[in-house]
Amino acid sequence: MNSKNSHNISKTISPPVIILLILFTAAIIISVFLSVNLKRKTVEIDELSKTNKTYSEKNTNLNKIISEQSVSIEDLNSQLAFFSTPEEGAEDSEASIPADNNTQNGAGSESHQNLYAASKNNALNSLQKKAYLTFDDGPSNLTPVVLDILDQYNAKATFFVIGTTNEEYQQYYKAIVDRGHTLALHSYTHNYNKIYASVDTFLDDYQQLFDLVYEKTGVIPSLFRFPGGSKNAYNKTVRSSIMDEMENRGFIFYDWNVSCGDGSSAATRDSIYQKVMDEVKSYKHPVILMHDGQGHQATIDALPDIMKSLSEQGYTFESLNTDLSPVQFPR
Ligand SMILES: [Zn+2]
Repeated sequence: MNSKNSHNISKTISPPVIILLILFTAAIIISVFLSVNLKRKTVEIDELSKTNKTYSEKNTNLNKIISEQSVSIEDLNSQLAFFSTPEEGAEDSEASIPADNNTQNGAGSESHQNLYAASKNNALNSLQKKAYLTFDDGPSNLTPVVLDILDQYNAKATFFVIGTTNEEYQQYYKAIVDRGHTLALHSYTHNYNKIYASVDTFLDDYQQLFDLVYEKTGVIPSLFRFPGGSKNAYNKTVRSSIMDEMENRGFIFYDWNVSCGDGSSAATRDSIYQKVMDEVKSYKHPVILMHDGQGHQATIDALPDIMKSLSEQGYTFESLNTDLSPVQFPR
């Protein structure tokens, strides 16, 4: 009976069933193996995600550093542009200056135009565009017209004045001051042969102008501009002695880096406008030479358009002062 039963059981578990059992067991083992593997892969993916995130953050930081460096480079470039040597065309032809006026820029200064210490750069190291309009040889009948145009643009400018005995014109010294502009010295006589004869004749002329300006305004000017610019054919032998003398007395002289060209009798309203627009492109802080002396009607005609265009280009109009690093031709 027993043997019959056992025979029956062994007969019940047939080979196909055994194969099925083996396959089932194998399937369980494989699925466990795959599950473990999947979990491991998930952990790896998590780690890769974290690494990716770290690299993204590093990338963002690097981009930030690069953009900061770009701003610095841009700023340095603007400083270099400001301190570049004035172009040959930037002449003050307000008097008949012989042609060699423009040939005296030494080779040394051409090749060392970036050689300025930080302190020399600071004052004008501003990202903001500022135009410094300067008017020489006034006051004249044109001066009040200039003052009105400046007011329309809420602009401040600098007037390098000469001496005059005309009582009406003499009132304009004070008008310049009262309306917030800088009053600066140019020359009483504007007579090249006389003022550049010696240091003393220069000082005599300046004393006369200084006294007149002080009498009419109560202001003691700090800035001045050499007639013909600091480097001209008339002052070759005395310029450096005059500079020393004036600087010892605390005066600061200004040349210019943009000239409107109104010293030439051929200058027209259009040529004056165009010359300023062409030259101003190189400067974030242009110091622009113009004239409000008698006979410069073309300059006054061009002035509103010049100011309108410069305003549209983002320039504001400021007066020169003693805090700025002065624009001077190479000595
Ligand atoms: Zn002049």
